[in-house]
Amino acid sequence: MSNHKTPAQRYLDNLQSRLYTHFGGHCRDCDVMFPLEFAHLEPTGLRGPGRGRKARLLDVQRNLNSYALMCRFHHDLFDGRQPAEVKQ
Ligand SMILES: [Zn+2]
Repeated sequence: MSNHKTPAQRYLDNLQSRLYTHFGGHCRDCDVMFPLEFAHLEPTGLRGPGRGRKARLLDVQRNLNSYALMCRFHHDLFDGRQPAEVKQ
């Protein structure tokens, strides 16, 4: 763990934590609290994970109604992908 985050990193950590709180802090479809991802409910113009964390978080902040917070499993299901293997 590094305690030497830049102000920009701290800002993004804080923004992410506020956004998680806004969405209830857990997956929309189950109680998983980590890891969580923001799933598009409708297109916002931002596509793919390659845009980076900052672009994604700022896009979520601008389009709160276009996103849902989901665990990886439900995000995969929601997007029609084969979900990653799940431990039962
Ligand atoms: Zn879930």
